[in-house]
Amino acid sequence: MNVKKKVFVFGIDGTPPKLLFERWIDELPNIKRLMDKGLYAELNSTVPPSTILAWTAFASGRDPGEMGIYSYTCKVCEGSDEVMLTNSTKKRKEMVWDLLGKTGKKSISLFVPLTYPVKKIDGCMASGFLTPGMIGKCAYPDSLKEKLKSMSNPDMFFDVAIGLAGHRGIGIDNLIKNTYEMTDMQIKLVKDLVANEEWDFFMAVMIGTDRLQHSIWKHFDEEHRFFIKDSQYKDVLKDYYKYLDKRLGEILDMLDDDTVVVVSSDHGMVRQEGKINVNDFLVKEGYLFFKDDFLAKAKLRWKEERKFTKFKLTDIDWSKTKAYEVGAYQARIYINRKSRGPDGIVSDEEFESVREEIANKLLAITDDKGRKLDTKVFRPEDIYKNGFDDECPDMIVFFDNLAWGVNNDGVGSDQLYLVGEEAGNDNAGHHPVGSFIMSGSGVEPRGKIDPISIMDVTPTILKIFDMEIPSDMQGKAIKYD
Ligand SMILES: [Zn+2]
Repeated sequence: MNVKKKVFVFGIDGTPPKLLFERWIDELPNIKRLMDKGLYAELNSTVPPSTILAWTAFASGRDPGEMGIYSYTCKVCEGSDEVMLTNSTKKRKEMVWDLLGKTGKKSISLFVPLTYPVKKIDGCMASGFLTPGMIGKCAYPDSLKEKLKSMSNPDMFFDVAIGLAGHRGIGIDNLIKNTYEMTDMQIKLVKDLVANEEWDFFMAVMIGTDRLQHSIWKHFDEEHRFFIKDSQYKDVLKDYYKYLDKRLGEILDMLDDDTVVVVSSDHGMVRQEGKINVNDFLVKEGYLFFKDDFLAKAKLRWKEERKFTKFKLTDIDWSKTKAYEVGAYQARIYINRKSRGPDGIVSDEEFESVREEIANKLLAITDDKGRKLDTKVFRPEDIYKNGFDDECPDMIVFFDNLAWGVNNDGVGSDQLYLVGEEAGNDNAGHHPVGSFIMSGSGVEPRGKIDPISIMDVTPTILKIFDMEIPSDMQGKAIKYD
């Protein structure tokens, strides 16, 4: 019998395995049924576990080095000191829908981060996180864009607020209201297209969980250092997971028996203790210098207003600087290598010892109470298949495995730690381990399996469709059928 296999992926951004598989599972009947009938696993995300990098790896089987995308921003052009918000045109490798399209399989991709601007695929696509609003190439084909436009408040399709960090500035009550409004619009579109379009592969990402978690964590996690007891928001996150489960159930009822269902996150989430002020640390240790009186002014501003001063790469005195840092959760350290351009001062011979020296200093940083941190240092040659281009950081650091973030507001202070109000609105950050569930047609009930890599997902999808897995893909297909 010739059955037409389908794969339906329901992405839930940033879902921690502990909450999904253990703490709340008895209140999530649809997800529980998928777990009982199929398999589930912890999912090791990309390094770093940034939403756009992780979903891109999920839907391509390629690491950030292969894709050539290392963060939310990228240089305007190679060698430039100007940076811009990155976008889908920077991707160097094909996505799973491109591969499926080559064999005539139709895909629908909705709200997958880093798909703006959308491109023509065999199927339809609406872009996700980092979409600037209902403008430009946010949906393909035009008929889908018209459909989105016809809804009230269509910008809300893509995120709870426009912009890289728009969700952080709208207050908790608006955040909750917008999250539900966005999710309802997204689910209605998913159901519409599931029912009315022809598709083999369908993927939709719900980003509402990530948006809530960053702001809500201290309201329910008793171990958070700023836990708010009996908060009016204590059940907000759990209630939203219950809501997602219910809406997922409505979609599952529409799928036929030949469909494989994947419910997965891109990373997990962890309570954030505070932030490490890495660039001022690099200044103090003599690795980072600024031109003219930039630093003096920044220090004065801190003294008078307790505010950091943002810097551009053009503010750095490259003739003395050996290293600088960018990041918000993880620290991405760039060494001012001679091989990067004419302003470089660290030779290839010195590079390893400079990098090692800085790594050891960062590894020695304790928390603000003097306790040792579980800090991890990653070198691109160990984690990326072919990283090490101009934009690739020379070192990525997870302070306390990301329970401590890094200050991204600039320089000027002699304070190493930022906690509470000083650390900003976030009270949770991304954790390297997320959640993965696969169930449905041909999936044996295997319960919890060993952790998988986020790069195993695309090979698994190709295998389900009996397609050849490109030999240079790092991931391994999960045992199927
Ligand atoms: Zn995410």
